[in-house]
Amino acid sequence: MNVLVLGAGQLARMMALAVKPLNINIRAFDVGSGNVVDPLSTNMTFGNLTQGIEFADFITAEFEHIDHQTLALCQASGKLRPSSQAIKVGGDRRLEKDLLVKCDVANAKHKIIETKADFDQALNNLSFPLILKSALAGYDGKGQWRLKDKAKAEDVWLDIKAFFDGGEHGVKHAVVAEQMVPFDREVSLVGARDSQGNTVVYPLTENHHTNGVLSVSIATKVDEVLQAQAKKVFDSIATELNYIGVLAIEFFQIGEQLLVNEIAPRVHNSGHWTQQGADTCQFENHLRAVCDLPLGSTELIRPSAMINILGEDEVPNEILNVASTTLHWYGKSKRAGRKMGHINVSGNSEKQLAARLSLLADMLPEAAFEELTPYVKVFK
Ligand code: ATP
Ligand code: MG
Ligand code: MG
Repeated sequence: MNVLVLGAGQLARMMALAVKPLNINIRAFDVGSGNVVDPLSTNMTFGNLTQGIEFADFITAEFEHIDHQTLALCQASGKLRPSSQAIKVGGDRRLEKDLLVKCDVANAKHKIIETKADFDQALNNLSFPLILKSALAGYDGKGQWRLKDKAKAEDVWLDIKAFFDGGEHGVKHAVVAEQMVPFDREVSLVGARDSQGNTVVYPLTENHHTNGVLSVSIATKVDEVLQAQAKKVFDSIATELNYIGVLAIEFFQIGEQLLVNEIAPRVHNSGHWTQQGADTCQFENHLRAVCDLPLGSTELIRPSAMINILGEDEVPNEILNVASTTLHWYGKSKRAGRKMGHINVSGNSEKQLAARLSLLADMLPEAAFEELTPYVKVFK
């Protein structure tokens, strides 16, 4: 089976690594260069998009910010999974909020802003503090403004207006204003849906962010009531989108309630732990769904965590001395804050996992991994 992935980053690379044993060959469309490449060796090219589409039995995507012309071409081939519509929803917060409302799932109170009048209405109808997010092209906390109270509102508006006038992507721009949610923690649900409508989900994963970027994800045994609540949301969103493939949903947890933050129509950073902590990893399950193969078990094998390596191109080799620890590099050039690789670690119990995380925390540079500290404390 041949699959073309739109995007040639680490997610396409990990898909290729995961499904080689299934005899699935992955090529990746590098949206920057317009070339179809080998995801494991991106300077090896196989032609242009048209040739990539011809090569493929199925087409999928590793990220949601793909230009609509490319999506339309792939959709027209009848091979694209999930559909262009599902990918667009993940790339435009206006469509995303509409979907959440349509599926009747709880989310933060919000208002879509395209004009000054909308902005003023948001200030009057929502409670502070607010977070304002660019409707398009936002990821890793980029394109966001925070507003504590009315005092700085005019400055933020001027900034947003300049952003609109910049005319990014040549489309009329918008931001979504949301009430800040006083969450107890952030969790995400990664799951897969096949073309028959079967769904499987992994255990809810607890996520920690550093400067708006995911730094640590932890998967342990979860509360069944919470898991059922998340699964219900997953099923209603995936069904509404007639979704095929892996879909991730980010939640804010307040007490026992989950509010949806956003969705990602793809494999997700908070699912990397499944490479060693689950029966079938998210990358394999994504391709199983896309290629009409039976979905694999999402059972947690043992408590696991993933630590992102941000902006560093080396870590001390001694981390590999810590039992049940694996290291994945993405082969990218070093840039401040960039996702360069990740570390997975597992334990037979939460206590053992915490002990191993504690060992890792001592070996890793503090700045990049400060988020480990609170977790290690929680489970000690
Ligand atoms: P990514 O796609 O990389 O996950 P993003 O740029 O799409 O990130 P969000 O997930 O919307 O951004 O926001 C980044 C982080 O900011 C969230 O994980 C959360 O920590 C915080 N945040 C976002 N919205 C809210 C909110 N309404 N209330 C409280 N915190 C929020
Ligand atoms: Mg996002
Ligand atoms: Mg997010």
